Amino acid sequence: MTEDELIERFFAASTLHRDDVVLGIGDDAAVLAPPPGHQIVSAVDTINEGVHFPAGLPARSIGHRAMAVNLSDLAAMGAEPAWALLSLSIPQADEKWLNEFADGFLGLATGFGVSLVGGDTVRGPLSVSVGVQGFVESGSQLTRAGARPGDAIFLTGKTGEAAAGLELVRGSRTGPLVDRFLDPVPRVEIGRDLVGVATSAIDVSDGLAVDLARLAKASGVAAHLDLDRLPLSEDVDQLFGPERCRELALAGGDDYELCFTVPPSRKEAVRGIEQRRTVPMTCIGEVRTGCGLLLEGKGASAGVPDAWHHFSAVPA
Ligand code: ADP
Ligand code: MG
Repeated sequence: MTEDELIERFFAASTLHRDDVVLGIGDDAAVLAPPPGHQIVSAVDTINEGVHFPAGLPARSIGHRAMAVNLSDLAAMGAEPAWALLSLSIPQADEKWLNEFADGFLGLATGFGVSLVGGDTVRGPLSVSVGVQGFVESGSQLTRAGARPGDAIFLTGKTGEAAAGLELVRGSRTGPLVDRFLDPVPRVEIGRDLVGVATSAIDVSDGLAVDLARLAKASGVAAHLDLDRLPLSEDVDQLFGPERCRELALAGGDDYELCFTVPPSRKEAVRGIEQRRTVPMTCIGEVRTGCGLLLEGKGASAGVPDAWHHFSAVPA
């Protein structure tokens, strides 16, 4: 199989067609036509075997995750995803592996209306780089920087399950927690819904504490996180115990939930989104004047677990 055949067979043939793709896979570069009055929102992420996921992870999950982490970044910006580029480094062209990888990757892309418009395929250690582009009505993007004192801090779903799942994957276990690591669902629709509602947003990829601290820093405010209100996973609690469950909720990565702030007047709008999307949204604290992340409630004095990155797939 030549490189051209590989690209055609596994990627070009089964990607979604979009009218705004003037020129997709096959030429030296893609030509894309964003709608008038919109701005492009662009992100890229790389996942490496042995660093971001353990060796031997199912190819379908590697493909799914590579797309999901990028869609999550667009979700946090309130953008509508449209196009993707895929740079794939693989040790060999194993047809079964490629089939499953493309299935996971294109399956999620197609589900969110994303067309694969180009990429690169090289031989090397397993590494997947994906760039995605989407758009927002000009100037309407959500950012990390808009939180204001008095805003409520919300979290979609719950955190800690993916990090628990990663630990189980490493022990070759299966089950719902493992799926939370293998097949994260990016909160794309919720991100779109939050445009005009949220004052700031971030996706929780490295851990709630780290990512909320980033949002607070970018906004120049203090984020008061109430540990008594943190949604906790019953599954993680059962398997890992209450203390570890709280640690993972605070410091575990890879959940791809959204953390966002809203002024008190928009709390009702959040409840509307919660019902429409059937994803629980919990108020976990409040924005005040000051700077950085401040913990309140039971266990606050213990602070954030030392190695913030310890529980995520990213090495400390
Ligand atoms: P070039 O040498 O000009 O970069 P390539 O042979 O690398 O050309 O790629 C040929 C075409 O296939 C280009 O349009 C490129 O964007 C696309 N392509 C290559 N690899 C992939 C991939 N893994 N997924 C999607 N498109 C790809
Ligand atoms: Mg190339």
